[in-house]
Amino acid sequence: CGIVGYIGNKNTQSVLIEGLKKLEYRGYDSAGIAVFTPQGLQITKALGRLANLEAKLDGAPLVGNAGIGHTRWATHGKPSDENSHPHTDESQKFSVVHNGIIENYLELKDELIAEGHTFSSETDTEVISHLIAREYNGDIVKAVQKVITLMRGAFALGVLTEYEPEKLVAVRQASPLIIGIGEGENFIGSDIPAILEHTRNVYILNDGEMAVLTHDAVELMTIEGNFISREMIHVDWDA
Ligand code: GLU
Repeated sequence: CGIVGYIGNKNTQSVLIEGLKKLEYRGYDSAGIAVFTPQGLQITKALGRLANLEAKLDGAPLVGNAGIGHTRWATHGKPSDENSHPHTDESQKFSVVHNGIIENYLELKDELIAEGHTFSSETDTEVISHLIAREYNGDIVKAVQKVITLMRGAFALGVLTEYEPEKLVAVRQASPLIIGIGEGENFIGSDIPAILEHTRNVYILNDGEMAVLTHDAVELMTIEGNFISREMIHVDWDA
């Protein structure tokens, strides 16, 4: 029920975990993170409290310069390690965190299974990572835009692909998401407290909008791909 994302040179794992702690008030049953490490996109997730995830990471920290994190409030599939986010596909080259519900996921899942995809969770979310893998043709932004047209429901998404490690893609459709603007680093979060420790400059996404974050820039566009400009908000309160 919470999303954080980071691209920058700080300790990504700790930015994600600290951000998720700020979102704990939203409620959750499990948590996980994905980080670009020198060995590729690596995912660690755990049922239960964030402390369980932290205990796993203590033994095997994920080191890298971009990542996404999630606290889950299960809607489709029981709370379990496997059903926790981030989700990926067979290639393990794509990673997705999602808040909300994909209403037509069963239909999409059947279609993907018929095409030969194999699933490793019971969630609605996992269809998103398989669809992105299927639609990917060298441009993650285009792939995500295509996949959005296939899905009905509510979603805030954070997406990473190993093919374009310098990019973090965020989408808002009927589930909250904000963008934090730093210097040489940028953030996404379900709400402002998740990132307030790092920056007070934010963009609030509206429904039907997405953002592409790199270390040095944030591009905002509609999910149809039309660029938009948005006034940056300076947050002067403390969480
Ligand atoms: N529907 C997704 C799931 O059950 C996301 C739930 C959430 O918003 O945390 O995994």
